[in-house]
Amino acid sequence: MRTSSVEQIIIETLSKEHTHLTSLQVYEEIHNRLPALNQSTVYRALERLVNRGLVSISDMGNGSAVYELLNNGMHHHLVCQKCGQVITIGHEEVEAFFSIIQERYKYKIITNHLILFGICEKCQTANPDSE
Ligand SMILES: [Zn+2]
Ligand SMILES: [Zn+2]
Repeated sequence: MRTSSVEQIIIETLSKEHTHLTSLQVYEEIHNRLPALNQSTVYRALERLVNRGLVSISDMGNGSAVYELLNNGMHHHLVCQKCGQVITIGHEEVEAFFSIIQERYKYKIITNHLILFGICEKCQTANPDSE
């Protein structure tokens, strides 16, 4: 199987799940369809997609990096450290912040999937005394 086909299958898998998958989850999904593909082939293809900016890789605080397809434009997340709830925010909400940094530091930001850790509204209400 050609490399480009592996990449295509990964893109299909990520778009179907429409969520954040660890590399192992990506491999397992693909393994169900194509048992002949080995793990390192899948991982290398995944890495190439990240390098080409088609797939984002992020640490969402659960121990392993997660991958997500970036076909719907850039977005970011707020991750609650108490209940684990993931809120998706649009890029327009952080765009201003990105431009300030880029301008002030003459910096070209390549982060395409920002994760902000915090405590969601519900958890703040549940524990009014904790930070
Ligand atoms: Zn995401
Ligand atoms: Zn919460």
